[in-house]
Amino acid sequence: MQQPDGAPSAVSIQQLVKRYKTVTAVDGLSFDVAPGEFFGFLGPNGAGKTTTINAIVGLATFQGGTIRIFGHDVISDYRRSRSLVGLSPQEFNFDRYLTIEEILIYQAGYYGIPVARAKPRARTLLDQFELTDKRRATYLELSGGMKRRLSLARALVHEPQLLILDEPTAGMDVELRLELWDFLKAINAGGMTIFMTSHYLEEVEALCNRIGIVNHGKLVELEDKSTLMARHADRSLQEVFLELVGRRTHG
Ligand code: ATP
Repeated sequence: MQQPDGAPSAVSIQQLVKRYKTVTAVDGLSFDVAPGEFFGFLGPNGAGKTTTINAIVGLATFQGGTIRIFGHDVISDYRRSRSLVGLSPQEFNFDRYLTIEEILIYQAGYYGIPVARAKPRARTLLDQFELTDKRRATYLELSGGMKRRLSLARALVHEPQLLILDEPTAGMDVELRLELWDFLKAINAGGMTIFMTSHYLEEVEALCNRIGIVNHGKLVELEDKSTLMARHADRSLQEVFLELVGRRTHG
């Protein structure tokens, strides 16, 4: 689907269906994310968020529907669409035998970036994420928050246009979380489209300008954050979220 100005959407998902044997994880999902948006993709555990992300980046096949990244189909134009996306997944999947600097250089190589260009890029990112001191360590020697930062650095190494973050601040202390928020706000202001899942609703409130909520693989809300909050002016995002996904609110 196109945006009103005729440009392709950063992400366009149409009628996506993903089944695992007896489970329908994604059940006819359709929505678009505009270039430059900071999109919050919310839902309770098991709603289908990670499955949708895996379908976007080619880690999961799907039975129905289409997904396009900046107009490029994720199946028929896999290489181009994948090169436009950086993913920081929910679970760490680093090579335990490489140093963290090598992890970044290898990842750049996966996108065809030669070592001579990848090295300075890796150094810049290590610096930016305050990991320079650890550049010769393996990821097993990092703290949880450092692993999260490494995951972000790896997602950005090939200079994607769309950054997908699956629970980006899980395991981070308050100070690091706020620092990361500032970093994400800054790269979004610089033009990076961000697609984020988070169970921290205050994080979504602080960062996202548009929100999609899924439940049982179906979209139950898709709205600008300000419109959503204005419509429920007397309630917090948490209360609105719990009602939309059919959970009781407390108090
Ligand atoms: P969370 O917030 O807990 O990360 P989620 O919204 O990301 O949840 P998914 O991980 O996409 O949810 O899971 C959606 C559904 O698909 C769940 O019912 C889950 O059990 C199922 N599922 C996910 N991956 C697989 C798999 N590899 N095999 C079978 N079922 C799966």
